[in-house]
Amino acid sequence: MSETNITLNAESERLLQYENIEIAKGLVKELEASAGRKLTYYVKTFGCQMNARDSEKIVGILEEAGYVEAESEQADFVIYNTCTVRENANNKVYGRLGNLINMKKKNPFMRIALCGCMMQEPTVVEKIKTSYRQVNLIFGTHNIYKFAELLVHCLQNDKLLVDIWDDTDKIVEDLPIKRKYSFKSGVNIMFGCNNFCSYCIVPYVRGRERSREPKDIIRECEKLVADGVTEIMLLGQNVNSYGKNLEQPVTFAELLRSINEIKGLKRIRFMTSHPKDLSDDLIRAMAECENVCPHMHLPLQSGSDRLLELMNRHYTKQQYLDIVTKLRQAIPDIAITTDIIVGFPGETEEDFQETLDVVKQVEYDNAFTFIYSKRTGTPAARMDNQVPEDVIKDRFDRLLAIVQENAAKKANLLTGKVLPVLVEQINEQDDKLVSGRLANNSLVHFPGDASMIGNIYQVRLLECKGFYYLGEVE
Ligand code: SF4
Repeated sequence: MSETNITLNAESERLLQYENIEIAKGLVKELEASAGRKLTYYVKTFGCQMNARDSEKIVGILEEAGYVEAESEQADFVIYNTCTVRENANNKVYGRLGNLINMKKKNPFMRIALCGCMMQEPTVVEKIKTSYRQVNLIFGTHNIYKFAELLVHCLQNDKLLVDIWDDTDKIVEDLPIKRKYSFKSGVNIMFGCNNFCSYCIVPYVRGRERSREPKDIIRECEKLVADGVTEIMLLGQNVNSYGKNLEQPVTFAELLRSINEIKGLKRIRFMTSHPKDLSDDLIRAMAECENVCPHMHLPLQSGSDRLLELMNRHYTKQQYLDIVTKLRQAIPDIAITTDIIVGFPGETEEDFQETLDVVKQVEYDNAFTFIYSKRTGTPAARMDNQVPEDVIKDRFDRLLAIVQENAAKKANLLTGKVLPVLVEQINEQDDKLVSGRLANNSLVHFPGDASMIGNIYQVRLLECKGFYYLGEVE
């Protein structure tokens, strides 16, 4: 199919969804009249930033249709946007679903919907169909733009509709969206992943890579800034391979430079970066662009070349360390964070020592450490040399101790400095404090009030508490 046809299709799809929003509005009004009250919704998001952004799209449509937000699952439309990165995430959803179904028995207006990565797994859909038949709607990751149409179906019928697609080539722009934060937003730059790391389910549930056109991304960023957004997080499973499949290819570095030109945008972040696709030009772009935050989240997963190969990661320990050196040379104040998997099938003590060696050399500002989770359907789940739980636990504890020691050491280096902090919210434990983030993503708490949310202040970092700072406005 040609690019023009896809664009035309996307436009007619957009119009179709707006027609469905109008139909949904009428149906919600009718239901409100018989309920004698406003109808409410509750969206529960599991998993990553991609899901968080998708949930904002769902909320945008629910609110356009006339639903108002509820504080809990005691609502008329409850939707779980699920994640399937770990096996126990699936179990959590089943547990909550049982409670929802009991609530539905008492509320004739209630509809239950499930979407997201977990729904792309056929075994999950089968289980819901047989054990949770009161669910109204199941859809996946590829047809989220059809939500208005699916919602209409739900409002007209109290029967289960399953609409799961294997893939899509379509990106439908400009549908309603409701941001969780007024001052910061995620922006999808691409969808899917082509990498097939052997432990990861993402390529099976989110499909192949599709990049958005740079003009659409820039237009969305400009609109967000006009609406008060100062920080944008560019989202993709592997942002470093952005643009390769566009008719006129564009690199991620080029995209960053264009976004950096947007007046009024103060902070640009991005995730996630695959080391194999991280170019020297991207490092240059990060160093040149004053609004790109000095933070790189660079998943290592393992320091052992043997395991990296089994994981299908396409880089070696040395190549990874070379990238870190280049990043630190170009951007001396950069914070580097990572993801590490402990207990991948066949991991020996020697393999684990290689990982510890990288952790010691890089001195990460923070690391997210994961115990290997066997995901059905991935090549790693079929490997027969799974590591015993007690061995994994011991390695995990040793790794965590070093990660925490390094992180505290790195954080301490900034104590006493005055740095800009974007205030994000009132502190959850003490309402006389506000919480915000440094450009390198570290958390800072300092005296303040709600009027400061969304603004950047120069803050002296008085005390480092390991993973966060206490400070005061200069
Ligand atoms: S790069 Fe690898 S780990 Fe990341 S989403 Fe793609 S397959 Fe999964």
